[in-house]
Amino acid sequence: MSYLDSLNPSQYDAVTYTDGHIRIIAGAGSGKTRVITTRIAYLIESLGIAPYRILAITFTNKAANEMKERVYSILGDDASGMFVSTIHSFCVRLLREDIHKMGDGYPRNFTIVDSDDQKSILKEAYKMYGIEVKSYSYANVLSYISACKGEEISPEAAMSIANEFTSEKIKAQVYDYYEKRLEHMKALDFDDLLLFTNRLLKKDQEVRVKWQRRFDYIHVDEFQDVDKIQYSIIRYLVSDKCNLCVVGDPDQTIYTWRGADVNIIMNFEKDFAPVHTVMLNENYRSCPSILKGANSVIKNNKNRIDKDLYTSRQEDNKIIHYSAFEEALEPAWVCQQINKCIQSGAAYRDIAVLYRSNYLSRSLEKQLLEARIPYRIYGGVRFYDRAEIKDALSYLRMLIHDNAAIDLALKRIINVPKRSIGNKTVETIEDYSRSENMNMYEVIKNHDVARGKAQTALNDFIKLIEKYRNLVNSMSISMLLEGLMDECGYMQMLEDDKETERIENVKELINDIEDFETANPDGTLDEYLQQIALYTDKEQENNGQFVQLMTIHAAKGLEFDIVFVYSMCDGIFPSEKAISEGGRTALEEERRLAYVAFTRARKQLFISDAQGYSYVMDRIKLPSRFIKEIDPDTIEHFGVQDATQHTASRQEELPSGQAAKALTYVDEEGHAPVKTSGRIRKGDLVVHTSFGEGVVLDTSQGVWKIAFNNKFGIRKIMANHPSITKK
Ligand code: ATP
Ligand code: MG
Repeated sequence: MSYLDSLNPSQYDAVTYTDGHIRIIAGAGSGKTRVITTRIAYLIESLGIAPYRILAITFTNKAANEMKERVYSILGDDASGMFVSTIHSFCVRLLREDIHKMGDGYPRNFTIVDSDDQKSILKEAYKMYGIEVKSYSYANVLSYISACKGEEISPEAAMSIANEFTSEKIKAQVYDYYEKRLEHMKALDFDDLLLFTNRLLKKDQEVRVKWQRRFDYIHVDEFQDVDKIQYSIIRYLVSDKCNLCVVGDPDQTIYTWRGADVNIIMNFEKDFAPVHTVMLNENYRSCPSILKGANSVIKNNKNRIDKDLYTSRQEDNKIIHYSAFEEALEPAWVCQQINKCIQSGAAYRDIAVLYRSNYLSRSLEKQLLEARIPYRIYGGVRFYDRAEIKDALSYLRMLIHDNAAIDLALKRIINVPKRSIGNKTVETIEDYSRSENMNMYEVIKNHDVARGKAQTALNDFIKLIEKYRNLVNSMSISMLLEGLMDECGYMQMLEDDKETERIENVKELINDIEDFETANPDGTLDEYLQQIALYTDKEQENNGQFVQLMTIHAAKGLEFDIVFVYSMCDGIFPSEKAISEGGRTALEEERRLAYVAFTRARKQLFISDAQGYSYVMDRIKLPSRFIKEIDPDTIEHFGVQDATQHTASRQEELPSGQAAKALTYVDEEGHAPVKTSGRIRKGDLVVHTSFGEGVVLDTSQGVWKIAFNNKFGIRKIMANHPSITKK
């Protein structure tokens, strides 16, 4: 069979072994997923197994689709009927057939609740028990509920283990309400899909046997990230006659924070003995430097089994690392490299940019748009389309617009955060605005349109907007926004809901405005908003030709010719949280994530970071510690380097540096600038190239806090930044 010819002996063994259960443990790019797809083709074509007797479970819908396409490309329509899906979709299918057999009155067309529905159920509970969102954020309570469910702790059990008069007790009470409400609606949340399936398979022998009889061959990809309940479901599905094939790479476990348990794949042979274990040692994906570089990083994890992955590929490209002098230079460099790749014949869709967290896409998106590079965010929303960014920009629009355009902004934020201004009131304002030919803001300024609480809220809102309208000419835009977002309670709302990602996004927007101010010291708010309008335009169409942007978690299992790992700074990746926890566990998971990121690349891996002051982290940034772990033979460094090196230039190739304590800036000839942090002291008068004169307030922690004379106010600037000179 031609599709079997290309397999190496271990892969061939894994594809054709059908005498019992099989486990494939192997590193990234060694063909694990390819073994599953080829195996499915082999079962159907060579052994004559009916496609509908084959089940394959993958981690994401994208992976499921790719797996199906792959089998179809080998077999054509002969493959139709095989069942390839995520575990959640599989559970939905099973429950739609059999949930009524639970005997609890659940109909087969049960509702699945999403996160918005969940929140509104919590709201009801909070109202009923007089609980304040301030003290019990929705996100926090929902993760408590999910954790209880994951451990199969019932509301009653949760109540009895919680101490009297504690927050646990209150959460357990909400959990109880939530469960009763779902049951009343006969609705299931995402956790329930797994729990109900597990429960049904456990208690109903008839159902269990029915589903066991359905599948003779079960495959699970990315098995290293399976959690207890998922594993239990898989176990119930495997009959004596069934062949189970699991594949995974313990070095790519990146979901332990959500309950994934790597011990499941390690101890698999105990539950399913006898198990045939196959190791795959040849990597077919990446060129030698990428493979060697990624391996040198993951080797630093103590808690792992060493693997020996090799490649027989000859052609090679070293990993390229660029450390930008300041934030703005990093995305510019990425765009420049993307253009170079395109000029050398790459297509946009061969290129992916991966990052640790969603908010990081902002600076890059802006530059991509400016450089006219088509891009798409996979599994996420473009930065300027995110709700909190639109809210923040609407607040800013309220300050300068006086025409009908203000209506859209006003409608968006008049009750965000909640201030008891309901739809009725908004409708009344709209009616007035139409009949009196005024914009909605003029209406509320000139008329009382509501009564009681709502009118008081409107008055407060007007007071707030008017206050900031008066400050537009005397305050910087970033300070206006920061003040507004704080004073209107928006940031508090995000904090109450523990919306970390949204908080990061708003901070990132403030960062964006600061960039604008630095580049345009005389720029006005109106100019800023006009510029932004260009970025919020509709997505471009480009025949499927897009650079793909996504988080590393979303890139699991995928591969691209060219991969950029963006914003690889300590505190971002590894995350501040993992670093501050101190223990090894969290840092090792971050390192596995780096391993996943690096091993997505086939031909070329670019890594970048920027060494400047980060508004989001509120400190200066240094390159990720993981970059220093990359084998020096496999990587070339460009850009600024660490202070531990004395001779440095900003543009030339640099040897990799040792752990950095502080940064030294150097000019084109390699001389360090005359000014040093020793010279600049608290109280000194300085001049900034964009912000003008200022007084130094603080010089601790590598950052200078400087009060400028004009509307720019107090700014934090990296120590020794060339834009500052002493007066
Ligand atoms: P990951 O751990 O990232 O999920 P994986 O082990 O699942 O990786 P695959 O995605 O299956 O690896 O394979 C990596 C690449 O190598 C794919 O492009 C695949 O087609 C190719 N490949 C795998 N085995 C062979 C082979 N024997 N000959 C040629 N190419 C191969
Ligand atoms: Mg795979």
